[in-house]
Amino acid sequence: MDNSSLDPLDWDELRAQGHRMLDDMLDHLQHLRDRPVWQPTPDEVRQHWNSPLPLQGTPLPDLHAQFMSDVLPYAVGNAHPGFMGWVHGGGTPVGMLAEMLAAGLNANVGGRDQMPVVVERQIVQWMRELYGFPEDSSGIFVTGTSQANLMALWVARTARLGPEVKQNGLSGHPQHLIVYASKAVHGCIPQAMNLSGLGTRALRLIPVNDRFEMDLEALEQAVADDRKKGFTPFLVIGTAGTVDVGAVDDLNQLARFCAREKLWFHVDGAFGALLRLSPPLSTRVDGIESADSIAFDFHKWGQVPYDAGFLLVRHEAAHRETFSSPAAYLQRAQHGTAGGSPWPCDYGPDLSRGFRALKTWFTLKAYGTERLGAVITRTCQLAQTFAERVRAVPALELLAPVSLNIVCFRHRGPQADDLNARIVVALQESGVAVPSTTIIGSALAIRLAVVNHRTRQGDLDALLHQVLHLGHQFTNKEDSH
Ligand SMILES: *Cc1c(COP(=O)(O)O)cnc(C)c1O
Repeated sequence: MDNSSLDPLDWDELRAQGHRMLDDMLDHLQHLRDRPVWQPTPDEVRQHWNSPLPLQGTPLPDLHAQFMSDVLPYAVGNAHPGFMGWVHGGGTPVGMLAEMLAAGLNANVGGRDQMPVVVERQIVQWMRELYGFPEDSSGIFVTGTSQANLMALWVARTARLGPEVKQNGLSGHPQHLIVYASKAVHGCIPQAMNLSGLGTRALRLIPVNDRFEMDLEALEQAVADDRKKGFTPFLVIGTAGTVDVGAVDDLNQLARFCAREKLWFHVDGAFGALLRLSPPLSTRVDGIESADSIAFDFHKWGQVPYDAGFLLVRHEAAHRETFSSPAAYLQRAQHGTAGGSPWPCDYGPDLSRGFRALKTWFTLKAYGTERLGAVITRTCQLAQTFAERVRAVPALELLAPVSLNIVCFRHRGPQADDLNARIVVALQESGVAVPSTTIIGSALAIRLAVVNHRTRQGDLDALLHQVLHLGHQFTNKEDSH
């Protein structure tokens, strides 16, 4: 028998093994609650993953067993209902199955005449509809919002300076381009300033008001000051859902200001943009429909498995101009496999790309936007209820207003920063819940972001109970020495 290809000699055997692997993952998802949210990886397990490059193959059942024993139990735990750290999506069984189909098809969705490109265009069409963008606007799947924000910077730069910037770069250019965002902007924005060549010194971090939203008067002042100094303000980034407390900048006001000052208006809506799916909360992102570009993730509140970021751009020509290139081996045809122009690779830096659109299509179709929106509504309600409980307990203190699904609070006590840092680590190591931390003002906060569709009231009650228990334990110990 010829086994020079990598396909199995015995398909029946592989099929049976494949079914076992599928069953294991479905069991895992069905019984998530029985596991710790997170647990540290034992040194012994790490040591298995320090082996030399394999020259010979290993039977698939052995590899599957190693995955089950070494990898699956020691992931970060974001599928678990007790995970509330950072902003992580929970994923769904439907998304997992769709990923399997996409992997089997092994489509390269950089371009050419194929249905996977059409599936991606369907999502672009839906996003135009959701955000009230024009029929001729453009969109593309990317890894995440970090990448989408960086791409938006590139597109805005090309729109401002014209296509010559592709040849000349920024160095020879007389205009010194300045970008504005609030102090609460995500760390990927300074990074994008760096990577885009604009430089972090061209980013003005505008103070926030007491609701942690960008202070519009300070923005106007900063733009006026820069114009006086001969700089060229060109881009304002509004955040829909700041990563620390979940604040939403006043997008309507920002849109009006940008229109008046002729500035590109970009929205980092990594998780908050999907508030549009929640009927009671949708108005919180009013004004987003006036943005020039929106970056957001399906893999956070959208519950699509990682990774699935998205960039929507109002001005298709500027978007395509930024990325399309005339390489001979990418020539288009009217007919045949090389048809179907424009291609996704004309709208981003990636040529070879996976089929992120499929798991997103399955998720949107299988659950419908009403159910997905209800998850967003409910996670915000859970956060509000939790905040009320924090207010009612004298030992606890709320550190920021709860705007959406994020609660920042702490246990009172001497050396509160130290105390709360210890509580968070102890909670994580207990396996009961995984919150993270942030700094509010100068205080270390325990930070919960309720993103997972599996999280229920009881999960938050368990976390609250543990925080009080640990706080009591640690402060009493402190008293005794
Ligand atoms: C998560 C997040 C990002 C980064 O998105 P990735 O998908 O992790 O790259 C950017 N901005 C905000 C506000 C975020 O919450």
